[in-house]
Amino acid sequence: MLSVALAACVAKQPKMEDECLYSSSKTQFAFWSNVAEQMEVRIYDNGQWTMDNGQESFETVALKKGENDFWTGTAKGDLAGKYYTVRSYQNGAWAPEAPGIFAKAVSINGQRAAIIDMKATNPEGWEKDVRPAMPDMTDIVVYETHVRDYTMSPNSGVEHKGKFLGMAEEPAISHLKELGITHLQVLPMFDYGSIDETTLEKNRYNWGYDPVNYNVPEGGYSTDPSDPACRIREAKQMVQALHKAGIRVIMDVVYNHTYDVMGCALGRVVPQYFYRLNEDGSYANGSGCGNETASDHAMMRQFMVESVCYWAREYHIDGFRFDLMGIHDQETMRAIRAALDEIDPTILTYGEGWAAMSPAYPYEDLAMKQWTYKMPRVGAFSDNIRNALIGSPFDHERGFASGNAAGKEETMNGLVGCPEWSGEPMQHVSYITCHDNYCLRDRIEVSASEESEETKLRMNKLAQTAVLVSQGMSFIYGGEELFRTKLGIDNSYQSPDSINIIPWENKVKYADLFAYYRQMIAIRHAHKGFRLGSAKAVKEHVEFVPTDNEHLVIYRITGLEGIDSAKSLIVLLNGSDQAEQVDIPAGEYMLLAFNGEANAEGLSEMSESQALVAPYSATILAEK
Ligand code: CA
Repeated sequence: MLSVALAACVAKQPKMEDECLYSSSKTQFAFWSNVAEQMEVRIYDNGQWTMDNGQESFETVALKKGENDFWTGTAKGDLAGKYYTVRSYQNGAWAPEAPGIFAKAVSINGQRAAIIDMKATNPEGWEKDVRPAMPDMTDIVVYETHVRDYTMSPNSGVEHKGKFLGMAEEPAISHLKELGITHLQVLPMFDYGSIDETTLEKNRYNWGYDPVNYNVPEGGYSTDPSDPACRIREAKQMVQALHKAGIRVIMDVVYNHTYDVMGCALGRVVPQYFYRLNEDGSYANGSGCGNETASDHAMMRQFMVESVCYWAREYHIDGFRFDLMGIHDQETMRAIRAALDEIDPTILTYGEGWAAMSPAYPYEDLAMKQWTYKMPRVGAFSDNIRNALIGSPFDHERGFASGNAAGKEETMNGLVGCPEWSGEPMQHVSYITCHDNYCLRDRIEVSASEESEETKLRMNKLAQTAVLVSQGMSFIYGGEELFRTKLGIDNSYQSPDSINIIPWENKVKYADLFAYYRQMIAIRHAHKGFRLGSAKAVKEHVEFVPTDNEHLVIYRITGLEGIDSAKSLIVLLNGSDQAEQVDIPAGEYMLLAFNGEANAEGLSEMSESQALVAPYSATILAEK
């Protein structure tokens, strides 16, 4: 009796990630369903259904219902190289079979789950792979890119174009090191549905916001999607190479909806449970993609928590960007934060604090931007600073950086990290562009087309300067430093490579712009005053000097002895076509940025009580 009682005490809630545990003598299966009357695993020789192999399974394993609605069973023998699906019987019928909800390896196009020895997928030296040191979280500068955008250009210098392995190559990595970013955020790299992995040669492109198998890398980014181990090994090689270069890797995760309901394991294995429904029983659609998941349901929450932890442990992923985070509930985001903290508290979490349409859940409990302060150390993208600086995506108006004085107040609010919703400044993701909406060059083009290219470049630098001196966390859309254009396409999710590729040739043509971005990132790294790290310190050290000029922001960070190498910092942001002379306190200064030039070491020394700020540009001074 004692041993039974003891066993009951230590019994834990089974893990969804343990759905297929392989060893050379047996494979154990476990799946959750609260509605199944029967469940079975079907084991196949082939990863794909074809006319030749039909639906015949090699072996069927009937599962038994145990505690907590987990169904378990064991198949004997060495099944490495085989495939499986699961199906459940309820309401008098078998539901269509699906790869398991927590499949960790799949066949081409993710049709069936694969039984593999995960240890055999580790690249050489993987056991020595560690997260790059991150002694000060305020150092973070995120660079967002897409595996294909980043390397597909004929000028990328990369051999494995469009592949995980391409991101691991020296030319790809050296650019990021040169720029000085700390984190690479990769657009969806889990298995998604919009690319047919059997016809990759057809030059297809998609962002990948259509999840199929959440816990498996996308096959289209591997050199052989028909080999289930290949995509896993190559995704790890990408992470490993970036880690070696001192760069952390952030995954873009899309738990808010699935590609479709019945084509996806979440929808097939336990019908309806993982989704929110409308009162009439139809699928709610807060994602605008046809459905929305239900993080407030216990097992969906557990799935999300286990999934991010799985990527953090198995693939050494260093951060997660939550797509349409406003669809998830706050409690789930806090549970994710707590679970990741047990692995490593420096793993980043932030997301889009909004939804595409109204989610079917009480607004006050959702992870909307407005409630960011209720989710400590979970950040949200600041559409405040974005719209203020370059204009809203919903119109073609200019922003503060392109001459619209209406953006001044919110620019100042963004510089201090919008404390009314962020809680702490690092929860405020400062950005002006990302993969969504116009890229920066195109945004300036649609709102200020009549200006000269020289002026547009000035506006570009000014807007990005505000991001990089903001007390929030810096985020840059990849390619802005090379003056990328998407030729006016503001939703390039399935545009051809010619629209989406990073124009590497611009590194020479717009060398001045690249140098400016690089120096501004270096200035941010060099000056703690721009990243004080707490709302309390921001309140204590930051002031805006009043001015009648509605196109001018005078941003001062003072009392920095013991915090920064500078005693104080002065930033003048001029969003007009007129130069302006500004009174400053008498002192010895180093000029860090002026008239579209920047240098972290200093452009020149200054000991005057006035500073000039040129049209559409920033002047930055560090007091010695
Ligand atoms: Ca896929």
